[in-house]
Amino acid sequence: MFRIFVICFFLFSAAVAKTQQKDVAVGILRSAEQDQVLVLSTQSPLVVLVDGQRAGELSAKDGLRISVAGGLLTAKSLSRVFNVSRSISVRTSGHGTVRVSTLGKVKIERDYSGSIEVSRSGGSLLLVNNVPIEEYVAGVVQSEAGDHKGLEYYKLQAVSCRTYAITNIRKHLPDGFNVCDGTHCQVYKGVCKLDTVSQAVAATADMVVVDADIRLIHATFHSNCGGETMNAEDVWSRPEAYLVSAMDTFCLRSPHATWHKTMPRSKWLDYLHRTYKLNTSDTASVRAVTTFDPTCRSMYIDGASPLIPLEQVRTDMKFNSAYFTIWPNGDDVVFDGRGFGHGVGLCQEGAMCMARAGLPFTEILHHYFAEVHLVDLHTLDFFRDEGR
Ligand SMILES: [Zn+2]
Ligand SMILES: [Zn+2]
Repeated sequence: MFRIFVICFFLFSAAVAKTQQKDVAVGILRSAEQDQVLVLSTQSPLVVLVDGQRAGELSAKDGLRISVAGGLLTAKSLSRVFNVSRSISVRTSGHGTVRVSTLGKVKIERDYSGSIEVSRSGGSLLLVNNVPIEEYVAGVVQSEAGDHKGLEYYKLQAVSCRTYAITNIRKHLPDGFNVCDGTHCQVYKGVCKLDTVSQAVAATADMVVVDADIRLIHATFHSNCGGETMNAEDVWSRPEAYLVSAMDTFCLRSPHATWHKTMPRSKWLDYLHRTYKLNTSDTASVRAVTTFDPTCRSMYIDGASPLIPLEQVRTDMKFNSAYFTIWPNGDDVVFDGRGFGHGVGLCQEGAMCMARAGLPFTEILHHYFAEVHLVDLHTLDFFRDEGR
């Protein structure tokens, strides 16, 4: 009886929590330092809050030029001037979005849902978009995945981006927001305008990915695995139960499936001698490093002594991947490679092919991440409490 009560209470709590969707504070347009921006409405009148207090409404045809000069923040519209001491915040009163245009050397114009809060950070403006998390996720999926990727691929991206956002919600707290809009966190260029992405986000609303211990996963990804993904510990030393090697035939005909590089044999041997003290007078060693044909992914060049880690070679030589064969060709050595990126976790091009082949996103997720589960993010605390 008590258990039924607990479950009912839990379901009720999750339902209440869903109706109170949390905002994410995204630090936006930070790449070019701004001392002046234009904030406009795309449809409805704008509601203006100065230092947290409602200060008025601007007609849809009006806008605000917000600037910082001499340590002072000022905001002017066509009809009035707002005196600001801490921050000015703008949101639409109805439909539409808030358009932000930068007025510096780099001209950027983006539309945002939620509100735009502008404050001073040193001599420049700090712009924060407070946006419901599901709308933020849709914006990220659109910015990160682009157009024409298919519903199931967008669903996969939606659960990954949401999981990342929740995991990293404190990443920028010292800066005055949760996450930034660049590659440092997740690329976010404002409101989502692709219907398929919005559908994918709605279909996976509140879902996040957890491992066998109900911990949010790091849904790491790369462009193309070349046919086989890597164990996390083989690339980054630290094992992770859900980041284990998996075979992948889906990505083999994709744009980044193979690569090719030729290098003078002397340059290759010099590098190995300099970096790993390889004895280049030893015929067996030289043969090992100029004829290498692994049947599957390997961490080192077989038969070479000392050990030559392929991941380090990849970094030093700027190869697309650490998955390659080597063969001699006259005075050169030829590297025939497979894949692009570190090879750990989700293979993007493989996942896209699986989605195009009609596989559901849950199957794609489980193909690349071992023993993971999809859970409602509002249940995470419940599971954690149960585990104690
Ligand atoms: Zn960031
Ligand atoms: Zn792959």
